Amino acid sequence: MPQPSTPTEIRQVEQVLPGRPTHDGAGVKLLRVYSYSPELNLDPFLMLDEFATDEASDYIGGFPDHPHRGFETVTYMLDGRMLHQDHMGNRGDLGPGDVQWMTAGRGVIHSEMPQQTEGRMHGFQLWINLPSDEKMCPPAYRDIPSPTMPVVDLQDGSGTVKVIAGTYSNGLDPISGPLQGMTTEPVMLDVHMGAHGQFLEPITVGHTAFVYVYEGEALVGDERISARHLAVLGAGAQVQVNSLESETRFLVLAAAPIGEPVVQYGPFVMNTRAEIEQAVQDYQSGKF
Ligand code: FE
Repeated sequence: MPQPSTPTEIRQVEQVLPGRPTHDGAGVKLLRVYSYSPELNLDPFLMLDEFATDEASDYIGGFPDHPHRGFETVTYMLDGRMLHQDHMGNRGDLGPGDVQWMTAGRGVIHSEMPQQTEGRMHGFQLWINLPSDEKMCPPAYRDIPSPTMPVVDLQDGSGTVKVIAGTYSNGLDPISGPLQGMTTEPVMLDVHMGAHGQFLEPITVGHTAFVYVYEGEALVGDERISARHLAVLGAGAQVQVNSLESETRFLVLAAAPIGEPVVQYGPFVMNTRAEIEQAVQDYQSGKF
C-alpha cells in the first residue's frame, strides 16, 4: 500500500525518458519525448513532441490534412509561426509564445502548416486524453495569445513562470492561467530560470506529474536531469526543481488521471476497439 503523502513531501523522479528523434506529418523532424503505451501510461497524457530546428527543410512540409478523435491537443509555440485550419472553417495563426488548445472531441480534420520559409521553428505538441463521456463532444478551440497568459516571478527571483493552464501558487497568492474548467484539471507551466534558482510548487496529490527539461540542466527532486529529457514524478505533494550552473528552461505538467481503458490507433484515441473501428469508418465515409 502506498503511504499517504505529507503536505510537504517532494515528488521524486521515478523514470527518465529521453526525447527520441523521429518525423511526423510531411517529413517534419521532431523529438518524441513521450507517447502512450500500455507499459508507460502517464494517464491522461498521451504524447509530448518537441520540434526545434533552424533548418527550414526540417519543418517546411508541415502537417497537411489529418484527423483527430477522442482527445485534446495543445500546441505551444516558442519561435516561428504555424497556421491551423480545419474542415469547419476555423483558422488560427500561432506566433511565438501563443498556445492553441484544441478539443478534438468527436472529430476534427485539420492541417498545421508553417508560415515561414526560413528561420527558427520551436515548439511543443501535447496530447491529453478525454474521459469516455467527453470523447464524442463537439470540437472546440481555445486560441490563447501569449500576452493573455500570466508570467509570474519565481519566489526567489531567479526566473519566471508562464501559467498556461491551471494555477501557479507563487507562495501565497495563486495565479490562474487562461485554461480552466477541464475535467482532467491540467496544469501546464513554462519555467525559465537563471543559475542556482529554485521552483517549488504544490501539485495535487494523486495527479500524474512530469517535468520536461528542454534547455540547460536541472535537479528534479534529487535527480540530475539534462536537456531533452522528461522526468516522470512519483507520489508526493510538491514539485521541486533546482537549476545548476546555467540557465534552464522546463515544462511542468500535471493532470488528474482518467483511469479508463485506452485504445489508440494513430490519431484516434478511444476506450474500445469497436469505437476505433467506428472512428475509422466515420472518417473514411466523410462523417467527421
Ligand atoms: Fe493535428
